[in-house]
Amino acid sequence: MFCFNKSEGYGEKTVPKLTWGLVIPHTIVSPGASSFDKTTNEYRYGLEMAEALSPIPYATRNKKGVKGAILELKEQGVNCSLEPHGNAYNGQSRGSEILVLKGDKESERAARHILEDFNELNPQRVLRHDNGIKWIEKGDRGYTNLKTAKNLGMRVALLSELHFIDSSRDFMTVQDQANFWRRHILIGHGTKK
Ligand SMILES: [Zn+2]
Repeated sequence: MFCFNKSEGYGEKTVPKLTWGLVIPHTIVSPGASSFDKTTNEYRYGLEMAEALSPIPYATRNKKGVKGAILELKEQGVNCSLEPHGNAYNGQSRGSEILVLKGDKESERAARHILEDFNELNPQRVLRHDNGIKWIEKGDRGYTNLKTAKNLGMRVALLSELHFIDSSRDFMTVQDQANFWRRHILIGHGTKK
């Protein structure tokens, strides 16, 4: 288990503390993909996970989009954003990925740490693309979300798709996913693991 501690070069002497916040994916009126059993969707899943991760700050895109959400988080001292989506394809696909802007070294570093830990805890899950990192360039899905977060001052901007929400065999429960993220994102809040 890693953390962003001094030995990792993230000590307070060198750089400001990483403080995470969640951007809830999609919106209440356009809630993203439905779960395999149609009982939830990406928006609702994201909100429930945010509640499970209290007191981590979170913001929705409902009123002013990703930009509004990031600005809201910034006001709460957040400098690392995570937008936790669920992947969806044909109900049969599986695998985990974190989207990172190509060339964004600090986000890459965070994502690699997170994915290594994820892989250690969930060896049965498949890491897609580059050991779980999906590189995003202009025009790709997710580009605007990540670029907006970075432009507004986030040091780390990640968009995760740890499971296929539409696949019964790949689905992760809200609680399981919250438990995983808690290992990483509470660190900036002075809470022990
Ligand atoms: Zn989505």
